[in-house]
Amino acid sequence: MAHKVFISYKKEDLQFKNQLVSLFNQNKVDVIDKSLNDIIPSDNLDYVMQVLRRDYLSDSTVTIFLIGEHSSEREGNDFQGRPHQAFIKKELQATLFDRENNSRSGLLGVVLPNMYDKVYQGTSICSTCGGTHNIVAIDDSTVIKEFSANYYIKPHNKCAYTEDDRYAVLVKWDEFYSSPEVFIDQAFDKRKEPVANRVTVYPK
Ligand SMILES: [Zn+2]
Repeated sequence: MAHKVFISYKKEDLQFKNQLVSLFNQNKVDVIDKSLNDIIPSDNLDYVMQVLRRDYLSDSTVTIFLIGEHSSEREGNDFQGRPHQAFIKKELQATLFDRENNSRSGLLGVVLPNMYDKVYQGTSICSTCGGTHNIVAIDDSTVIKEFSANYYIKPHNKCAYTEDDRYAVLVKWDEFYSSPEVFIDQAFDKRKEPVANRVTVYPK
């Protein structure tokens, strides 16, 4: 089954977005090649979000969030005091928003190559189960909270997260690039899994 995808990215990562659009065109993945900035040049973000949801995401089923060096919660404010991440935050909020006739989309985070070392920090031996767990830094230093809250869903009482504990899917750029549809399907399927009931939609 083909799914329609939307790409959320920072302008610094435009080249990666363009590479994906070419790849999707070759593979016949239907992609909405527009960002919030192009859709309506308005400062009224609530209005922009309504239009985004209604006209662009209503039939989109998976949002691909490019995780680069400028897409974290800690990026700060612009000269007008508006968060730098206002657009990508609205894009992810619109993705996760769930309403009849306008259902929630899947969320797929793609870690760009220059972020591999920052996100994938090796493994640690667990003092609870004695097993080995991967250390994956998905937090305010790497992503916006719209993503992290749905990757590490709380409350959580096990010593490590399993795939069933997550709504957001995470993949490295190289892996995604070589088989995009596998990961798009995975993010799509999450919409009907029990974990979909535990999604956090900001603003709460
Ligand atoms: Zn453990």
